[in-house]
Amino acid sequence: MRLKGQICIRGIVQGVGFRPFVYAQAVNRGIQGTVRNLGSEVLIEAWGDRFEKFLRAVSVGTPLSEIDSVEVRDLTGHPPEGFSILRSGNGSLSGFIPADAAICDDCIRDIFTAGGRYENYWATSCVNCGPRYSIIATLPYDRERTTMDKFPMCPECRTEFTDPLSRRHHAQTIACATCGPSLALLDREGRVLGCDDPIKETAHLLEEGAVLAIRGIGGFHLSATEDSAALLKRRLGRSEQPLAVMAGEEEIREVAVVSDEDWKRLQSPAHPIVVLEKRDPGSHSAISNLHTIGCMLPYSGLHHLLFSHLKKRMLIMTSANMPGYPMITETADAISHLRDRADYFLVHDREILNRCDDSVIRDSQVIRLSRGLAPRRAEIDLGSRCILGTGPELNANISIYKDGFCITSPHVGNVRNPPTLAYLRETAEKIGGLMGAEYDIIAHDLHPRFLSTRYAHALAEEYGAETLAVQHHRAHIASVTTEPCIGIAIDGVGYGDDGTIWGGEIFAGAVPDLERVAHLETVRMPGGDLATRFPERMLYGILPEERITNLLSSRGWTETELGVLERQVERGFNVADTSSTGRVLDAASALLGICRERTYDGEPAMKLESVASGGRATPWDLRFEEEGRVFLTSALIKEAMQRMEKETIPDIAASFQYNLARGIAVMAGDAAAEHGINTIALSGGVAYNRIIRETILSEVQARGLGYTENKGMPLGDGCISSGQCIYAGRRGDFF
Ligand SMILES: [Zn+2]
Ligand SMILES: [Zn+2]
Repeated sequence: MRLKGQICIRGIVQGVGFRPFVYAQAVNRGIQGTVRNLGSEVLIEAWGDRFEKFLRAVSVGTPLSEIDSVEVRDLTGHPPEGFSILRSGNGSLSGFIPADAAICDDCIRDIFTAGGRYENYWATSCVNCGPRYSIIATLPYDRERTTMDKFPMCPECRTEFTDPLSRRHHAQTIACATCGPSLALLDREGRVLGCDDPIKETAHLLEEGAVLAIRGIGGFHLSATEDSAALLKRRLGRSEQPLAVMAGEEEIREVAVVSDEDWKRLQSPAHPIVVLEKRDPGSHSAISNLHTIGCMLPYSGLHHLLFSHLKKRMLIMTSANMPGYPMITETADAISHLRDRADYFLVHDREILNRCDDSVIRDSQVIRLSRGLAPRRAEIDLGSRCILGTGPELNANISIYKDGFCITSPHVGNVRNPPTLAYLRETAEKIGGLMGAEYDIIAHDLHPRFLSTRYAHALAEEYGAETLAVQHHRAHIASVTTEPCIGIAIDGVGYGDDGTIWGGEIFAGAVPDLERVAHLETVRMPGGDLATRFPERMLYGILPEERITNLLSSRGWTETELGVLERQVERGFNVADTSSTGRVLDAASALLGICRERTYDGEPAMKLESVASGGRATPWDLRFEEEGRVFLTSALIKEAMQRMEKETIPDIAASFQYNLARGIAVMAGDAAAEHGINTIALSGGVAYNRIIRETILSEVQARGLGYTENKGMPLGDGCISSGQCIYAGRRGDFF
């Protein structure tokens, strides 16, 4: 039996209350020794009769920690008096960047304890909760390296901070009303409104119908009650886009069906937005006109206090940004950019260094990887070179590989404009700096004109690094698995090897040798991006027939407009060719009269899914060409059109999605047989569609094949930067 040892615990062990936890375990068991932080590891020296029990206890970790390994080494020398926590030292920092965590139950209790030190204090936190990544300047994580350094601890906070038996022992975010960050309520001109309690006044203004901009953990939200939903949408210029709500447990359960799994997701330390099915698909349509609604629980002291003053505990909470631009974090920016949208501003004076939108989850799939989930850390061996993936163009983020870990940043946005590119660059510099990254390879999208591609080349010059272009859909598959697989990548658009736009692709092989073996029919996209905005153009591109022109004419298209469309498709003028799955769903949505203009990302397909949720799917005949390697989506559209005379729109919508998924699964299953591979890997934004994903899964299983998909990582383009890193790392012959 061991009586002493040096214990080295690696993983996410800093900023998660590990040292105080170890201290408490040691004191409870009469252990003598020390504990200290060395970046991504905690080093414990321990002596005592109950060493083994102590070792088992500390190996469990704290709620926010993630333990990779526990190693015990021999220890020489004599034990010190008692047990103590030593200062942080510098060690390897790779793999360690804690994410922000929702306020814990103990801290919520503190806020509502009358006469307590933390009563009504909005920024209450402890070692188990509170902001982390959003306030970190450099590592190791200590107060002086966060934006809390502006708030020196008062004597009472100092006492608690140094009390080894306190929950706030070494809690770097400890603060109270005396010494911590404070709130102010401002008008549109940025003038402070005199009031006793800014939070109570905010609740009052919201209930009177005002729109408030609220500075939170990772940036600004725009908030309003459900009654003001239309006003908020009008001011945002987004009349169709569904908004997320923050609500209490009872209110969420009243609005939506919440499975046990969903409830766990809502309550997890990240407190993400969870996309739930409404109880009544037509209800709360001012917030969301889909059959689903995004809900989250209050996740900071500020939110809980705000909710305590509301009659109805439900508020719209949407990220405050200009369309296509990053979420606003600075108060001055909020006042200058949001004064037409918000009536008042509830702000605080704790700087937000690293922006984080709310994360979004649906079922077990991550839709947006951000607050609480990112930076995301994945253990993978890609060798000794340091790699940066600069991501796709839309829904971009960055990933950095170094020393066995791939770190993915929070969601950055659509890198189509200089401010978002600047934010991408800032994020890469920030996370790269925290990791001590010196790039050997910079991987980027295959598209030569993306801003992120240009950035990759400029940065490569700076570092003397190699660059590698990775095709969008191969990056999707690389983000799922590096084992031999048949990869299904189904999404909107990505630049293909042949210069056409891909998006319904089947690959065979193992990263980096993924061969495109089948795909959806290549069809025309008349007017390029215009066909994305107006899906009826896409409909005609897929099925350029008189019946379609008659339909469009009956919907108000003029002879001239139709003439231009016909000539474009006929002559291939201003036309892109595409095998995109998303565009096929758009066309079906247009055919069925569900969505004729796209006003936000994914709108036609999301509305198609909503309508389909009320229908019953039946199998249709599927048609293929080129020995089953090309699935004819034009035949599917034709079938749907013929059924419009005798079937309901919800039934056709349901059948369309179902049969599109079946066709994709058939191509993948055939490729598996042909190539002797028995695992199917699925990725791409279209796979968020529950029917499509579940249909592919059940068809794959019916053939006795294995199945895998992105886990803990978006199926959509949020996985691309990590896929680029993995692809580049596995490209062994590259140098
Ligand atoms: Zn707490
Ligand atoms: Zn204090």
